[in-house]
Amino acid sequence: MIDFMNVSKRYANGTEALRNLSMHIDAGEFVFLTGHSGAGKSTLLRLIALLERCTQGEVLIDGHNLARVPRKQVPYFRRNIGMVFQDHRLLGDRSVFDNVALPLVIESYGHHETARRVRAALDKVGLLKKERSLPAMLSGGEQQRVGIARAVVARPTILLADEPTGNLDPLLSREIVDLFTQFNQVGVTVLIASHDIALVRRSGRRAVVIREGELWQGDFPGQGGEPAAQPPLNPDLGYAPHDASPHVSNSTGQRPGSASGSSAVAGSSRSTTPRRRT
Ligand code: ADP
Repeated sequence: MIDFMNVSKRYANGTEALRNLSMHIDAGEFVFLTGHSGAGKSTLLRLIALLERCTQGEVLIDGHNLARVPRKQVPYFRRNIGMVFQDHRLLGDRSVFDNVALPLVIESYGHHETARRVRAALDKVGLLKKERSLPAMLSGGEQQRVGIARAVVARPTILLADEPTGNLDPLLSREIVDLFTQFNQVGVTVLIASHDIALVRRSGRRAVVIREGELWQGDFPGQGGEPAAQPPLNPDLGYAPHDASPHVSNSTGQRPGSASGSSAVAGSSRSTTPRRRT
């Protein structure tokens, strides 16, 4: 579903944020993107959301080369992608309801359909009773849930999150990951950038590791949702490079031992092709 083929990204100031990176993510997968601050995680997400374009290589979504998406088509393309940010980026002077409704208002959904979808999204994140609150009246975890509701309200097929638990304690972080898991279980492809190694380990999910803009080919500890058996940590990376794990991405993005790298959600073949509003 998401393919990076020898992708490099050089910013205008000359910083090479990604270098010759290739990976594959299946439809319906739940993948963590991890690595140190500055490794290139946000850049990778921004390329998928077409907030940036790569300078070399190809980014494909459902086989569509993003380099060929004309600028005018970008908002249309983005309807299929929900984004969650560490600082949730809520509008402080708007209610929870209005914040979540924003993507639908931009797309000119009708009042009735907007209200229906917003309440469904708020219900999923457990905040139906807070629809009239202002963001400042909510806890950090609740604000992040509003950010997630806003990201899913237009029913995207891909959910990207950039350090969504960065400001939360471990318990709240786990709740947020559980929420992403629920969306993943109904077929949404989830990609979360996080430098929180403990959180990634605990999740037992596949981890794509980036180091200085390149795909890290070493292994990542922690499998099957179990905490890692505490291998000796690599002082450079913060985790051991040679601890075999089936949840580690190799250069093709497939799990070692998996011939097809098949979807975590059997039979999921949801398309990112823009859909009609209902
Ligand atoms: P991460 O999300 O892993 O912290 P980023 O993708 O934000 O990493 O950054 C990767 C590298 O690209 C860093 O060196 C960062 O300073 C640089 N970078 C990120 N955004 C820009 C930008 N808009 N212009 C120039 N350099 C950038």
